[in-house]
Amino acid sequence: MTIIGLSCGMDYKENCFQLRASYQQVLEKYGASVVLLPPQKTIFAKEIIATIDGLIFTGGGDIAPLYWQEEPQKGLGAVDPKRDNWEVALLKYALRASLPILAICRGMQLVNIAMGGSVWQDLYCAEKNYLQHMQNAPGWHSSHTVTVIHPQLQKIINKKEMQVNSFHHQGIKCLAKNLEAAAYSKDGLLEAWVAPQYDFCIGVQWHPELTAENDASSKAIFASFIREANKRTC
Ligand code: MN
Repeated sequence: MTIIGLSCGMDYKENCFQLRASYQQVLEKYGASVVLLPPQKTIFAKEIIATIDGLIFTGGGDIAPLYWQEEPQKGLGAVDPKRDNWEVALLKYALRASLPILAICRGMQLVNIAMGGSVWQDLYCAEKNYLQHMQNAPGWHSSHTVTVIHPQLQKIINKKEMQVNSFHHQGIKCLAKNLEAAAYSKDGLLEAWVAPQYDFCIGVQWHPELTAENDASSKAIFASFIREANKRTC
């Protein structure tokens, strides 16, 4: 059985874990089971990684800017340093084990930061005139276009352009040295990266789990991720 770890957030007021069920619902269709990996002591990360076949860094709140040596700016949203620390620890051991990694939205920013990159704390405080990246439409609607430039991602989706949904107010400022740009929106914002030294370590700024029911490109991303994870169970 293929087991995928899903990072998740924490609602400290209600003392509840927080994750949209869509991630699990899509993975189940591809025959994969999931375990939730809520923020906890980082010393647990190594052994947890040994029990899973793939890891998804899921969407969520902002990342504490001290990680990339910036002071918090006006447009910064809610941060959870415990979640940040936990996910950075998970990433460290997941990379060491060459675990297939799919990093979604906050997840793609987190991996970039952990590897030495940075993000805009709020796109609309940046000097550039960005498109609307926090869409006022349901998640199944793909509101903007991305141009796919990286051969690994082109091969997966079998296209050079696709429509994606968009639910982020932060965005990649500097891409980490070990990551390669994979897709851009029409305003020049980086919307996907690939870590070429691993079999499957891909980050996307959009939410393919919300469009996987009808959109072929979103399906292809999950299918390809699960194919890699399945190899770990053999
Ligand atoms: Mn976007």
